[in-house]
Amino acid sequence: MTDAESDLAERQAIRAEALEGLLIDKGILTGTEVDNFIETWSERIGPMIGAKVVARAWIDDDFRARLLTDANATVADIGVNPGRLERLEVVVNEPGVHNVVCCTLCSCYPWTLLGLPPSWYKSPEYRSRIVREPRVVLSEMGLELEDDTTVQVWDSSSEVRYLVIPERPAGTDELSEEELAALVTRDSMIGVARPNGPNGQSDPNDAAATGSGSGR
Ligand code: FE
Repeated sequence: MTDAESDLAERQAIRAEALEGLLIDKGILTGTEVDNFIETWSERIGPMIGAKVVARAWIDDDFRARLLTDANATVADIGVNPGRLERLEVVVNEPGVHNVVCCTLCSCYPWTLLGLPPSWYKSPEYRSRIVREPRVVLSEMGLELEDDTTVQVWDSSSEVRYLVIPERPAGTDELSEEELAALVTRDSMIGVARPNGPNGQSDPNDAAATGSGSGR
C-alpha cells in the first residue's frame, strides 16, 4: 500500500466508524447487528460456498456445463442465495488459459460466494495494474504462469460478477467432494493463486502437474 492509499484507508475507516457510531446513537443499528453482519460475511459465508461450487464443478461434468450456460440458476440449485450476485459468470482455468478477476472501477465482487473481498482486491494498485500487466502482478502475488499461457482478465461491474474455477490439483482423484472443497482457496477463485494440493501444500508452481493429471 502506498502512503496515499493508507491515508485514504485511514480516512475511510474514521468515516465508517463515525457513521456507525451515529447510526447506533440514533437507534437505527445496534453494535450487535454490525458484529453479526461482519461475522456472517467473513466467517459463515466466507469463501466456502464458492469452494463448494468449484468442487462440484470438478466432479460433475453436467453441473459444470450448466454453470457455464446459466450460473445463477445452477448455483441456486445447490442452495446458494443468488440475491446479491447480480449476473454471475463462471470462467474456467485449463492448461494454457488462466482467468483472473478484478473490478477496475471499485470493488464489485461475488460476496454471496466468496464472503468479504480482501483489501488488496479493493486497492487502486491491484485494480489498475492487473489489467495492464497481469503476469507481473500475478508473479508478485506468487503465481507464476507458463510463458504460453493466455491470461484473461475479467472486469466485474455492478451488473456482472465472476467466479474462477481453478484447475483441479493433481493427485486428487480419490478425494470426496468435501475434501476437494477444502483445497479451494478464496484467492484461487479470484484467479490470483492455485488451489492447495492434496497434501496441504499451496501448490505454487504446479502447472505441469495440474495440466496433466487432473483426471478430467
Ligand atoms: Fe466495482
